[in-house]
Amino acid sequence: MFDLEEESPFDKLHEECGVFALYGHPEASNLVYLGLYALQHRGQESAGIASSDGRKIHSVRKMGHVAEIFTPGVLNELPGSLGIGHTRYSTAGDTVLRNAQPLSVACSKGQVAVAHNGNLTNAIELRRDLEQDGSIFQSTSDTEVVLHLVARSRERTLSGALRDALLQIEGAFSLVFLAEDRIIVARDPHGFRPLAIGRLEVPGERPATVFASETCAFDLIGATYIGDVEPAEMVIVGPEGMTREYYTTPGPRAHCSFEHVYFSRPDSVVFGKSVAESRERMGRLLAREHPVEADVVVPVPDSGVAAAIGYAAESGIPYRQALIRNHYVGRTFIEPSQAIRDFGVKLKLNPVRHLLEGRRVVLVDDSIVRGTTSRKIVRMVRSAGAREVHLRISCPPTISPCYYGVDTPSQGELIAANHGIKDIEAYVEADSLAYLSLESLRDSVSDMDDRFCYACYTGHYPTLVQINEIVMAKTGCC
Ligand code: AMP
Ligand code: SF4
Repeated sequence: MFDLEEESPFDKLHEECGVFALYGHPEASNLVYLGLYALQHRGQESAGIASSDGRKIHSVRKMGHVAEIFTPGVLNELPGSLGIGHTRYSTAGDTVLRNAQPLSVACSKGQVAVAHNGNLTNAIELRRDLEQDGSIFQSTSDTEVVLHLVARSRERTLSGALRDALLQIEGAFSLVFLAEDRIIVARDPHGFRPLAIGRLEVPGERPATVFASETCAFDLIGATYIGDVEPAEMVIVGPEGMTREYYTTPGPRAHCSFEHVYFSRPDSVVFGKSVAESRERMGRLLAREHPVEADVVVPVPDSGVAAAIGYAAESGIPYRQALIRNHYVGRTFIEPSQAIRDFGVKLKLNPVRHLLEGRRVVLVDDSIVRGTTSRKIVRMVRSAGAREVHLRISCPPTISPCYYGVDTPSQGELIAANHGIKDIEAYVEADSLAYLSLESLRDSVSDMDDRFCYACYTGHYPTLVQINEIVMAKTGCC
């Protein structure tokens, strides 16, 4: 048992992750591997696959990137025609293997493995209650709470126990479960995180069913996107076919707008809409809202590319790739210490002096979090000879932390939570700085009927976020 006054037992509460699941293909683990490969951008800390041969669940979880972990030899240890996979990235704290997913348990309902994208906002309370009742936790991941709830459920069937567990958890979850003979997936009632459904033709057999955080995973394996798991929906795929049911009443929708701003790949369709299309629209609207006289539009690669294309098209200012990214280094944002982060910007980006010298530059990026990276990039562009640097950001100022599974620092560290735009402009050393309005962000993601979450831009959270140490840590309050 732990004391609420003491440290939280969960060292990572804000995981960014990718999930994948497949039912009904003789090469399940190879295809799950490819799916995870396409979802690598959603988490680079650890990855895992669990497969089932119909009798037993096999599992491999390791620290590192998908391609390093899953060699042909390792994939041979994962037999069967159904499987799930996970890529995980989490922020501070220890980056231990025991938190890597899929997590698995053997209980009265059989063997079950689970992979989770999102963040449970009542995990601390649930874990406290479970520990008081004698549950012993193996990890410090909020996802383990779900397995304990399943194991302790009085329901006799696995689907009944899952329903029971899903009704108790709150927050953001796109969950994929693997049992010996079936895949079960579920999405939270608000639909914060994406979860797409696809179909994969299997010669001479029934088509396989696949699920993924993003449709770019389907493209790689040749699967067809057929729709999304609905908020509050549970989908079961087993020997009897596919069944879909609502395990509870759907709540007001709250799809994460940041998936479209930054997190998802532009070649994905997320919440039914092309990410490339919404990003380009963000850039176009940004150009209309915040025009500036300039000679070139330059994206911060890769995050600002699609919006910069939109800005250039709308403004008529030529688009130039004047910052070149070295793709063989990880995202600098995830480096643990400031010293490494500083070095990281130069490792990651190099300016093309020939395109910048003497020019007035519109520099386009998706977001500013702490402001430290943006400042280095503005300096880099200027030291390569740019005459003026006008920074344009394709979302509103980030003023509040996310409690639903995107890694944002505490409110105290969010530059826009504590400073006005003119102060940020001075800090990042830009000649001008402007952000996309909330109204234009809504327009870009085609949010006609309030289906999206914008809490990191507004501070208005779509669910009650418990006043506990998660919130205190994030808001920096006592
Ligand atoms: P900074 O200027 O230090 O706030 O860093 C801004 C950069 O961080 C932008 O290029 C963003 O694309 C990137 N960024 C924003 N949110 C995240 C996130 N959750 N994970 C990784 N990178 C991010
Ligand atoms: Fe997405 Fe921001 Fe809402 Fe988190 S708070 S779910 S990042 S829109």
